[in-house]
Amino acid sequence: MKIIETAGDMQVVAEQARLKGKKISFVPTMGYLHEGHLSLVRMARKLGDLLVVSIFVNPSQFAPHEDFETYPRNFQRDFDMVEKEGVDILFTPKPDDIYPEGYQTYVNLEKLPNHLCGISRPAFFRGVATVVTKLFNIVKPHTAVFGKKDYQQFLVIRRMVFDLNMDIDIVGGETIREPDGLAMSSRNAYLTASQRKSGLSLNQALLAAQKAVESGITDASQIIRETKDFIDSHPETQIDYVTICDPETLEEIHVINRPALMALAVKVGSTRLIDNMILNKK
Ligand code: AMP
Repeated sequence: MKIIETAGDMQVVAEQARLKGKKISFVPTMGYLHEGHLSLVRMARKLGDLLVVSIFVNPSQFAPHEDFETYPRNFQRDFDMVEKEGVDILFTPKPDDIYPEGYQTYVNLEKLPNHLCGISRPAFFRGVATVVTKLFNIVKPHTAVFGKKDYQQFLVIRRMVFDLNMDIDIVGGETIREPDGLAMSSRNAYLTASQRKSGLSLNQALLAAQKAVESGITDASQIIRETKDFIDSHPETQIDYVTICDPETLEEIHVINRPALMALAVKVGSTRLIDNMILNKK
């Protein structure tokens, strides 16, 4: 596996691969990898001839009070994990290379960021759309794989690629969970044992909501109320949002008479967890 540390070197290698007719597949990450990331890497492996994984903790998607400085990092562990998966290139640029002195260009979407996580993290999707655009211009992928655990992010990227005529296939991977149901996340490393137990309430609430829909309940506000009560009954939880919405536009749905996205964000202690599920009558 080759490590590439600068945007310039990565662009040269990507261009050479394209000239040779190779298909580039790409998985962008912020590192501290887990099975969720690796599931995307395995999907991407099948979608191209040159597999690139990036590790870049993107400063522009963190607000000043958020965890950019303390975000978990372990390069050697990540290196070993992706090397085992047969990744061809590990791209690890430095913040100064991606955002040099005088940097001033950002990508904004007008509607999708006005929902869910975008409400409590107003600069987040601007940072994500900007860094993903830059990574796409640097890595020049034919295909890129994103996790649906970050469902709104997946929609934002897909919309941005369509709107800006980027010639890249965006593929979504399902959420990978711990055996007890907790959605895998690099931030789970922050949780104490008791907080981790409270964190399970997100997935449990989603499963209960799915059961309620299967039993014929269509009133979204009832399910949201019950979900909030359930999560509130767990120690150290503080709900950011519980929403039932259209899986494409993220506009709220009041009557669940078609597939609906249920999405949650909950702070457990000081760790913000998110999870989601498509509710379906079956
Ligand atoms: P991150 O390193 O958290 O920025 O995530 C990098 C990619 O991995 C994103 O496309 C995430 O949606 C995806 N991802 C993170 N956690 C999971 C998970 N539990 N299952 C599937 N994909 C995930």
